[in-house]
Amino acid sequence: MTHEFDAVIVGAGGAGLYAALEASKTARTAVVSKLYPTRSHTGAAQGGIGAALGNVDEDNPEWHAFDTVKGGDYLVDQNAARILADEAVQAVYDLENRGLPFSRTPEGKIDQRRFGGHTRNFGEAPVHRSCYAADRTGNMILQTLYQQCIKNDVHFFDEFHVVEVIMDGTRAAGIVTFELATGEIHVFKAKAIMFATGGFGRMFKITSNAHANTGDGPALLARAGIPLEDMEFYQFHPTGIRGMGILITEGVRGEGGILKNRSGERFMERYAPTLLDLAPRDMVSRAIMTEIQEGRGMRGDRQIDDWVMLDASHLGREKVYAKIPDIADFCKTYLAVDPAEQPMPVQPTAHYAMGGIPTNVDGQVCTADTVYEGLYAAGECACVSVHGANRLGTNSLVDLIVFGRRAGKHIAEFVRHAPQPTLPADAGKAARERIATLKKTRGAHPGPLYKQMQDIMMSKVGVYRNEPQMKEAVAEINALRQEFANVRVQDGSENYNQEVLGILELENLLDLSLVTAATALNRTESRGGHSREDYPERDDANWLKHSMATLRGGDVAIGYKAVDTSIWEPKPRTY
Ligand SMILES: Cc1cc2nc3c(=O)[nH]c(=O)nc-3n(C[C@H](O)[C@H](O)[C@H](O)COP(=O)(O)OP(=O)(O)OC[C@H]3O[C@@H](n4cnc5c(N)ncnc54)[C@H](O)[C@@H]3O)c2cc1C
Repeated sequence: MTHEFDAVIVGAGGAGLYAALEASKTARTAVVSKLYPTRSHTGAAQGGIGAALGNVDEDNPEWHAFDTVKGGDYLVDQNAARILADEAVQAVYDLENRGLPFSRTPEGKIDQRRFGGHTRNFGEAPVHRSCYAADRTGNMILQTLYQQCIKNDVHFFDEFHVVEVIMDGTRAAGIVTFELATGEIHVFKAKAIMFATGGFGRMFKITSNAHANTGDGPALLARAGIPLEDMEFYQFHPTGIRGMGILITEGVRGEGGILKNRSGERFMERYAPTLLDLAPRDMVSRAIMTEIQEGRGMRGDRQIDDWVMLDASHLGREKVYAKIPDIADFCKTYLAVDPAEQPMPVQPTAHYAMGGIPTNVDGQVCTADTVYEGLYAAGECACVSVHGANRLGTNSLVDLIVFGRRAGKHIAEFVRHAPQPTLPADAGKAARERIATLKKTRGAHPGPLYKQMQDIMMSKVGVYRNEPQMKEAVAEINALRQEFANVRVQDGSENYNQEVLGILELENLLDLSLVTAATALNRTESRGGHSREDYPERDDANWLKHSMATLRGGDVAIGYKAVDTSIWEPKPRTY
């Protein structure tokens, strides 16, 4: 079946829905999503959305932009960071006007809390910048945007999984999708196609990411020959629930929670004397891993799965249950720990992809010399780049609403003049045949490959990296990609075949794992979330540049793109 729209947005998280809302002002707009929209990972965001409203402390978008650049270890494109910080303010008020129930100050203004790396006056002290709705900020954003999209007559195709992008040279023409309920292939033709497919934390064993976060958008585009930007930069959040990775928001430390090692020492005093527990995530994750490796983790046995404690018990029961009610619930459910009384056991958890599909500030997919016409990306799958080598907490939600909205606006204008592309006569045929083969012939189960990939990426391309281990990772992931060719479903049913879906997702994760490991091996310096034991220093002379990785079979070809440093000169980072 073929559907025709002006604009098709893939993904119904914060970025996709905001773009759909804007695009639908002029364009017949469809949102295609493998999940029911409000189940998108944006709904799991807890801590908040950063914007310099100045409701609690004096604040200024320029300080927000500077913190973003410094937090990203100067790999951030600085004009994009200015746009992020400047437009965040209006974007938050727009969400408020559209009905988002933010937590309030006693005077009735949007309340704000502190978050890692967000400071007053270029690094003087932490500032209250994160706007929040208890610890359910992302859920409230999704609900608000989804309601508005329904009101604007956006067409939703729920539980449709995109398997292929159709390009006509450098022009996007359509997508091919697999409908989960029926097993049928649907083709969509549109003047503008946007990817907002979210992150890919599932490539790691311990992750805060939902099962659906498998990087489908970047992987599909990589297979279509489009380079991916800065894929070596993957963020480990310092505080996942031990052994499970479920996130404990940085908001806990923003409200006054403290990290402690096995002797009860507040160890961040040794690593970040000014910001302490509210230093950026890459630094706090490294501090935790160093404590563990030097035998000061809770077990003290220097193993990678040892942990430290996050203590919020001194905040008092009332504050814990008012400010972080969901976290308190998670801890009681999964650990039988009540954070109002006991500290929480935590370890770094794979959390956020700084890299992804390269775009300009209007969401158009582009490299240094090519703009892909009619092709857009925004949200976690995209790289603008406003997060550089390390994203600050709360800046992803800002990224969604600022750049999701900008992409939607650009699409609304673009479709007014652009002609409908033409699709090849056999569009969808390859996908149909591929899925039929997966179902009909016998082969290996995907489960063991999935597990091996996660183990390799966690142990060899994790918080600390070195050449021998990453070389092994590249070879081992490539071997898994070979084995993947023999994977088949065990159950051939047509309706709701989750196994087919799982195999398609694994393919995407394997491809992105290869690109991540290969680009990390290539970058011989330490910067932000990319920390090499064999090259511990940042090396601006050779590496102040974005990497652009093109997947070619089992090889990854790596080129570069300049970083926009037009506002602030790169300096060493101290906190
Ligand atoms: C537990 C947790 C807490 C977080 N807390 C915060 C926070 O407090 N503040 C902050 O700024 N950031 C936070 N983040 C990060 C932030 O939430 C995410 O980066 C962001 O929500 C991603 O939004 P998105 O719109 O890009 O994608 P998502 O919300 O992940 O949505 C992706 C969409 O793409 C669709 N999709 C994917 N693949 C396909 C396919 N093949 N076919 C069709 N559809 C597809 C999915 O159905 C889904 O609708 C948190 C992340 C996690 C995991």
